[in-house]
Amino acid sequence: MLAPLPEPEPTRAAGAIDASALSAAAALLRGCQVRPTPIRMLVLAVLQVRTPSDGLMNPPDICRAILATGHATIVPTIYNVLSTLTDHGLAHRIRLGDRPAMYGAGPAATSLTVLMCESCDEVRTQFSPQIHAELQALAARRGFTMGENHLVLRGRCAACSAPAGQRDLAGRRR
Ligand SMILES: [Zn+2]
Repeated sequence: MLAPLPEPEPTRAAGAIDASALSAAAALLRGCQVRPTPIRMLVLAVLQVRTPSDGLMNPPDICRAILATGHATIVPTIYNVLSTLTDHGLAHRIRLGDRPAMYGAGPAATSLTVLMCESCDEVRTQFSPQIHAELQALAARRGFTMGENHLVLRGRCAACSAPAGQRDLAGRRR
């Protein structure tokens, strides 16, 4: 009999939402003429720290990350803040079928390849200029103008693909 798998941790990525993360977030907000309220600073800091370049989080996960810092908030508040952040290019939103939209730090990118782990739900993104060019050429052959599209690859992340005994060695994210 296999031992039951441990529950996935609510936030897998490392990184502290500390004073320096919050002041960096405040500076980014001010740079966009957005008033740095505490909740905006917290949401942006979580995205900056937990979704460096290729990660994505959904609003419930962002909410949990903020609650873990000892600040009270609710998911609808997170959605409101994310709307402000995306309007100003401080965050981007990716819709993936019927799942809640996911968010990452920084402005939107088109033609991302999204790697979705069906085992632990981790979602990471990659941008490939070659794939982007190929998709545009394919669409153009039909006179089709591409909108916002992301190529979604479902499978298992590196940590979940590793044999059970080697999962920690394979770098399961904490
Ligand atoms: Zn995984």
